[in-house]
Amino acid sequence: MTGNELRKAFLDFFESKGHLILPSASLVPKDDPTLLWINAGMAPLKPYFDGRAVPPKRRISTAQKCIRTNDIENVGRTARHHTFFEMLGNFSFGDYFKEDAIKWAWEFVTEVLEMPEERLWVTIHPEDEEAFKIWHEQVGLSAEKILRDEENFWEIGTGTGPCGPCTEIHYDRGPEFGCGKPDCGVLCDCDRYLEVWNLVFTQYNQTEDGKYLPLPQKNIDTGMGLERVASILQGVNSNYETDLVKPVIDKVYEMTGIDYNKDEQVRTAYRVIADHIRAITFAVSDGAMPSNEGRGYVIRRILRRAVRWGRILGITEPFLYKLVPVVVNMMEEGYPELKEREEHVVRIVQTEEERFQETLDQGLHILSQMMAEQKKAGSNEITGEQAFKLYDTYGFPLDLTQDIAQEEGFTVDVDGFKAAMEEQRERARAAREEYGFGDAAAEVYKKIREEKGIPEFSGYSSLEEETE
Ligand code: ATP
Ligand code: MG
Ligand code: MG
Ligand code: MG
Repeated sequence: MTGNELRKAFLDFFESKGHLILPSASLVPKDDPTLLWINAGMAPLKPYFDGRAVPPKRRISTAQKCIRTNDIENVGRTARHHTFFEMLGNFSFGDYFKEDAIKWAWEFVTEVLEMPEERLWVTIHPEDEEAFKIWHEQVGLSAEKILRDEENFWEIGTGTGPCGPCTEIHYDRGPEFGCGKPDCGVLCDCDRYLEVWNLVFTQYNQTEDGKYLPLPQKNIDTGMGLERVASILQGVNSNYETDLVKPVIDKVYEMTGIDYNKDEQVRTAYRVIADHIRAITFAVSDGAMPSNEGRGYVIRRILRRAVRWGRILGITEPFLYKLVPVVVNMMEEGYPELKEREEHVVRIVQTEEERFQETLDQGLHILSQMMAEQKKAGSNEITGEQAFKLYDTYGFPLDLTQDIAQEEGFTVDVDGFKAAMEEQRERARAAREEYGFGDAAAEVYKKIREEKGIPEFSGYSSLEEETE
């Protein structure tokens, strides 16, 4: 089954169960200052969950574009994590609840996708006897295949609002994918047991004083990773080898001629590049732009990382922009809007890439000097000052420096970096106060914000970790 067919099969299945199919919302959240990116199928539907708006139907199903930056360290290193991925979901707003949600999920994976039952495992919240009973008595799973995990509880980052236990479906890809640890099992964080589907039962409202009150209207919110399921159905080793990503890797191979499986580092390079250009293409197509803060900085960061991984494959010319049409062709069946904005995306990516290429080599050179110096002094840590210099002078985002450092067995003093950054902000602020000059563009933005009543952006670090 191709990725496109799988997406369609999911939506058709839930349509046949009375769901209204809505198109994916933009990756850029609307009216939601708590979120940098849409990071789950439920995110754009939040107003229906908390009662601020009435859904067009009580059963909805979507294939939603998502970006998660909390997984960036994993990207390219695990078989299953992306910054950009698609989440397939079915949602109930005060309509059906646990029983139907579980039964339909099982029906979809075992009958429509024909996954062999013996490969499937589930997890539940330790206190969710109701879920246990449905899995055990109605679906007929043996008790040993239903694991209890404290982690199976979902709540919004703020700790108040709708929340509840969840149940997950995992697929055993076989011992050859395991990490080899003696206790490797369903709950292990390796690539063997793939978490494919998470079913959340939002049945409580957490109050400010920490009480969980039953909600009058119980909701269902599920999320299934399209690329992960595609990897299973297509019998490949990772998400990256599915038809939802592989064409990009093939294109990069055309440019470099280096075997994808040459070694771990080469494979990671191919994967990071393919992942990041998918994210960039979708994000820019949805109206985000590279910049120095917030959402724009996420794009800048991942683009620069991709450029650097290109160096690992020996690519020294701008190349990411040439991958944009590959992403568009691969994905336009599900997302026709990509085609219309293709040229715009190509131009933005090329411009941004060219700018960074100019300072990258110098920065890389300085960084290796820094590491040599530190090593001589008996340390394997890049200082905050050094990381900040790379950031400030050569445009190295912190995680790019960390990425390279890690390969050489170095760490980076993150607190020191933040302190150096703060110090510079202070200096700039003081200079502004003393001399009264400011950033002309920032002044214009400020005026627009005030006119439109848009609150000031509060800095992206506070939002950065909220996606788990
Ligand atoms: P994991 O534990 O693997 O990081 P998660 O528990 O954080 O996943 P959920 O928030 O439950 O993920 O999201 C629902 C589904 O979306 C997951 O079961 C998985 O199939 C998919 N998914 C989540 N994060 C990613 C990602 N970074 N890349 C690809 N698919 C993902
Ligand atoms: Mg998980
Ligand atoms: Mg999960
Ligand atoms: Mg995760």
